[in-house]
Amino acid sequence: MTDEIIRVALDTPLRRTFDYLRGADSPAAMAGQRVCVPFGRQEKIGFVVSLASQSEVDSTKLKRISSYIDPYPTFDPALLVLLRWAADYYHHPLGEVIATALPKLLREGAPLRQRSFGWVLTPAGRLALEAGEAKRAPQQRALLERLARDEAGVAEGDLADGPRWRDHIRSLRDRGWAERREHEPAGSPPPAPLTGSAHGSPQPTADQQAALDAIIASGDTGYRAWLLQGITGSGKTEVYLRLAARQLQAGRRVLILVPEIGLTPQLVGRFATRFAGVPLAVLHSGLTDTQRLEAWRRTHDGSVRLVLGTRSAVFAPIPELGMIIVDEEHDASFKQQEGGFRYSARDLALVRAQQLDIPIVLGSATPSLESLHNVTLGRFQHLSLPRRAGNAQPPTLKLIDLRAEHVHAGLSTTAATTIEKHLADQGQVLVYINRRGYAPTLACTACGWVAPCLSCDARLTVYRNAARLRCHHCGADRELPRQCPQCGYAVKTVGQGTERIEESLAETFKGIGIARLDRDVVRRQDELEAVVSRITSGDARILVGTQMIAKGHDFPDVTLVIVLNADQGLFSTDFRAAERLAQTIVQVAGRAGRGDRRGEVLIQTEYPDHPLLRGLLDGGYEAFASAALAERESAAWPPFARLAALRASALQADWATEFLAAARRTASAANVRLLGPAPAAMAKRAGRFHAQLLIESHDRAALHRFLDRWVPTVEALPEVRRVRWALDVDPLELF
Ligand code: ADP
Ligand code: ZN
Ligand code: ZN
Repeated sequence: MTDEIIRVALDTPLRRTFDYLRGADSPAAMAGQRVCVPFGRQEKIGFVVSLASQSEVDSTKLKRISSYIDPYPTFDPALLVLLRWAADYYHHPLGEVIATALPKLLREGAPLRQRSFGWVLTPAGRLALEAGEAKRAPQQRALLERLARDEAGVAEGDLADGPRWRDHIRSLRDRGWAERREHEPAGSPPPAPLTGSAHGSPQPTADQQAALDAIIASGDTGYRAWLLQGITGSGKTEVYLRLAARQLQAGRRVLILVPEIGLTPQLVGRFATRFAGVPLAVLHSGLTDTQRLEAWRRTHDGSVRLVLGTRSAVFAPIPELGMIIVDEEHDASFKQQEGGFRYSARDLALVRAQQLDIPIVLGSATPSLESLHNVTLGRFQHLSLPRRAGNAQPPTLKLIDLRAEHVHAGLSTTAATTIEKHLADQGQVLVYINRRGYAPTLACTACGWVAPCLSCDARLTVYRNAARLRCHHCGADRELPRQCPQCGYAVKTVGQGTERIEESLAETFKGIGIARLDRDVVRRQDELEAVVSRITSGDARILVGTQMIAKGHDFPDVTLVIVLNADQGLFSTDFRAAERLAQTIVQVAGRAGRGDRRGEVLIQTEYPDHPLLRGLLDGGYEAFASAALAERESAAWPPFARLAALRASALQADWATEFLAAARRTASAANVRLLGPAPAAMAKRAGRFHAQLLIESHDRAALHRFLDRWVPTVEALPEVRRVRWALDVDPLELF
C-alpha cells in the first residue's frame, strides 16, 4: 500500500507547499489540521492543505509528519478556501497568509481546545460495582455509581465536589476500576435565547424599515452585497442590530468588522446590551496573546455567536456564519498596509460572503468610491438612510476664508466668537486638527535652520510640554534645543498641533474644561474611555483632536464642530487624497448636533473656492463622489483600473530603485502598464530609502496573470538581497 501524501503549508517565504507522508499508524489527516513536521534541521508547525496520491518528490525522500497537534482541523474547508484565495489574489505565500490569520499562541503550537480530563469506569470497575464491592467505603462506592451512570465518563471538574475526591478516585484507579482519559467537552452549548432583543430597541424609522424590508425580502441566506449609505446619526447601527437579531434567532452566527475597536467601544456596548446573554467575542489588536487565543477558541468551538473585530477578524473561524457586516467600510484601516501580506479585510469579507453564499452589509456615511462604483455596476445593492433618526437635524456647514480673517494661534475670529456663543448656549465644541504635538516645525529666527529628523526626509514635531522633539515617522526622540544649533540664535515653533490648540483655547476660554484626543494622549483603551467620559459627563466642554474624534463616538451635546485646516489634502499627489479629505470632513461634521439641537460646522481654509470644498458644501458627499468618480474615470485610476505596487526599501537610495528597475526589465507586459520606478515623496524614512513601481491594467484578470508569472522572477533577482520588498495589490496609499 502506498503511503498517503500530505501537502503542508509552512510559515516560510517560499511560495509552495511541502509534501510529507502520513506516518504508519497516524490517523487520516484532515485539510486545515495543524501538524508538526521536520523541516531542515528543525521542527515546524504547518497546516494540511490537501491530500495527494503522488508527489513530485521521490517518495523515498519524503519525511513523515511528526505529530498532529489537534485531532480536528483549525480551519474548516470554507475558511481554507478563503485563505487560498487570499494567497492567490495577493500573490503571497499561503503559509504566511495562514500565519496572519492565526493567534500567535496557535502558531506556536498551543492546543486548539483546552485539554480537559475525565474519568471512566473500566470493565473491572463495572464488575466490582455489580458484585457490590467497596461497601465499607461509601464515598468510593458513590464515585463508582456516578461513573457508571455515564459511559462517556465524567469531567474532572464535575467530580471535584466531595472532599478528598482525588484520594478516592486514585484508590479506584489503583484497583483498576477507573481510568483517567482525555475528555471531549460537550458540544457547543445551545444558543442562548435572545433576551432583550425587543427591549430598548426603538421603532425603526421609515428609512430604516425600508432598508430592512429590502434586505429581508431578498432572503436571510444567499449571497447579496448591500451598501448601506446612511449619514452619521441616521441609525445604521440599529439596522445592523435588527439584521443580527434575525440571524441569531435562526441559529446562525454574525461577524461584524469595525475599523479600530479601540475607537468604537460604544458599538461593542450596543451589541452587548442588545444581545445580553448572547456570547460575544471581541477580536482586536489590543488583546494579550492569551486573551486572543481564548476568544479564538470560543469562536472556533461555536460557543460564541457574535464576533466583533478589526481587520484580521475576517479570518475568524466561525461555524454557521450567517451574515457579515462591515461598519465604516471606507476606512483605510481595513487595508493592511505594512508587512508582506497586504490584504483588504473588506474585500476579503466580500469574498467570504460569496463563498459561503450569505448576505453582507457594508455601511458608511461616506462610502468608498470603489463601493459606489460597484453599485453602478450592479454588484452591490444601494440602500440609503438620508435623514437622522430621532429629532436630530443635519448640521449647517460654512467655510471660513482664512485670508480674510484675523487668525490667532490657528483660530479665526469667527471661529472664536462662534465657540463663545455655543458655550454660552450650553453646547459642547469639537475642534479638529489633523496634527498632533505642539507644532510641526521648530525653526531658527535668524539663519533659517529647521529641526530635521536625521533618519527621515521629515521635520521633527515639537512637544513643548515634554520639552522634546519627536519624529512621527521613525519615533526619533530628542531634547528640545533652546537655541539654534547652527548659529546660536533663538528658535521658535511654527504652525499648530493639537497640544498648542489646546493651550491657546485654554487661554481664550478661561474656566472651561478642555480635553484632548490624539494618539499621544490615548495609547490604550482605558485612556480613550477616560477622555470620552470627560466629554459625555460634561466635565470638558471643548474637545480638541485628530481624526480620532470623528470615529464612532456619540456626543449628544456637541453643537459646534470646527475644522481648523482643511487644506492639507487639497493638493496632494495621491489620487485618493481628495476622497480621504472629503470623508474626514463629512465624518467630523457628523459629530455636530446629534442630540436635539441643530449643529453648526465651520471649515477654515485658504481656498474657499476650491471645487472639492464647494462641491462638498453645495451637494454633500454624493455630489463630491460623483465628481470624483468622473475624474477617476477620465484619468483611468481605480476603480476604473486595477493597480498593484511593488514597493522596496533599502539602506542606500540606489539599491531600491535598481531593484525595481531590474524587476521592470524582467517584465514582459501584455495588457499591463508599468509606471516607475519612482522614489517615494518622503524617500528616506527610518534610515531606509523607499521607492515603488506601479503596475496598472484595465483588466483585473490580465493584471493577475501578469503578476503570477512576474512575482517569482522578481523574487529570484540578485538585487533582491539588498532590499526589503512587498507587493501591494489594490494599494490604498501611493507615494
Ligand atoms: P449611525 O450608526 O448611523 O451613526 P446610530 O445607529 O448610532 O447611527 O443612531 C444614532 C442615534 O439615533 C442613536 O442614539 C440611536 O439610538 C438613535 N436611533 C437610531 N434609530 C432610531 C429610531 N428608529 N428611533 C429613534 N432613535 C433612533
Ligand atoms: Zn540659526
Ligand atoms: Zn524620523
